[in-house]
Amino acid sequence: MNHSPAIIVHGGAGSIPEDILAPMLEGCRKAALEGWRVLDAGGSALDAVEQAAIFLEDDPLFNAGTGSTLNLLGEIEMDAAIMDGHTLAVGAVAAVSRIKNPIRLARKVMEDGRHVFLAADGALRFAREAGIPECSPETLLVEARKKHWEKTHGTIGCVAFDRSGAIAAGTSTGGIFDKLPGRIGDSALPGCGTYACETGGVSCTGNGEAIIRTVLAKTAVEFLLGGSGPGEAARKSVAFLEKKTGAKAGLILIDREGRIGYYRNTERMPVCLISGHNEIVTDC
Ligand code: ASP
Repeated sequence: MNHSPAIIVHGGAGSIPEDILAPMLEGCRKAALEGWRVLDAGGSALDAVEQAAIFLEDDPLFNAGTGSTLNLLGEIEMDAAIMDGHTLAVGAVAAVSRIKNPIRLARKVMEDGRHVFLAADGALRFAREAGIPECSPETLLVEARKKHWEKTHGTIGCVAFDRSGAIAAGTSTGGIFDKLPGRIGDSALPGCGTYACETGGVSCTGNGEAIIRTVLAKTAVEFLLGGSGPGEAARKSVAFLEKKTGAKAGLILIDREGRIGYYRNTERMPVCLISGHNEIVTDC
């Protein structure tokens, strides 16, 4: 079937100073366009998600890849996951450093198929075998030090719907500032920060511990299954998280018809969505 494609990206939920907001929205717009070009040419939702995420990982303004935040020891440990809604194939990596594009590594883990989740040194070893480009931690870190404004939150994510009707979701993050070494957040955990199935695809951002406790991405899909529209499912799942944990988060999603929804209870969450006839919307 020839569906009309759709894509949404987010640049992380939190409070974002005014002067950073415009460049972040522009980054989201460019990333969404990267993914959109893939979809428009008949490419897969997975490829679109990966391309958009790589674009945001390479932009030092965002807390993922280059520009990732630092843990308590001043080191970078990144988490990322990508998931195919049709097959439920998923690849995830956690606590990785020295990797320029963790989303690319997550995709390799998915394609390799032996495991779903690799962490730390084992993930690096796998990356070397898979030929994923390595980088010195300093290239990721130099930019991170400039990001004093971003003390707590930030992440990037993308959900895409392609012409075949397939949905994919991906999320990548440096995690939270001053986290304990070895801390793994929600972003790479399937069902928590990232999830995709035939009903919908979701990428979350915000308080990772609360997102894990409420299995937020899968919770949003459950609302879709219960008959909620995409906007309502996003709102209800964030409301559930707030009620149960008092925490703050946001999420983006696309349902099985290619309809887009997003919601946050944080001050900001820059997003860009493209659907229909190249209609581009940015919001925060
Ligand atoms: N959810 C991410 C984490 O806890 C951070 C964020 O999205 O701001 O690692």
